Amino acid sequence: MKGDRCEFCGGEMEQRRVLARFRYKAQTFYIENVPAWVCNKCGEQYFDAPVYKRLERIAQQGEHIQKTISFPLAEFDMAIA
Ligand SMILES: [Zn+2]
Repeated sequence: MKGDRCEFCGGEMEQRRVLARFRYKAQTFYIENVPAWVCNKCGEQYFDAPVYKRLERIAQQGEHIQKTISFPLAEFDMAIA
């Protein structure tokens, strides 16, 4: 991904830790401290494949958390069972 340009505006991508908005099974999860590529012009976020897979795992666990909290917020570095 490094050196790639943004698909939307052609801006340069920077690696940063972000609060990621991640959609999974019609739910939106917010996950903190996710390493992402962020466009320095439009702010579009891109995730590397291993990061994306981990977000899916966190979202799967988040489905259980969802029953007790209305705003699912997880840490990227959280322990995954
Ligand atoms: Zn862009």
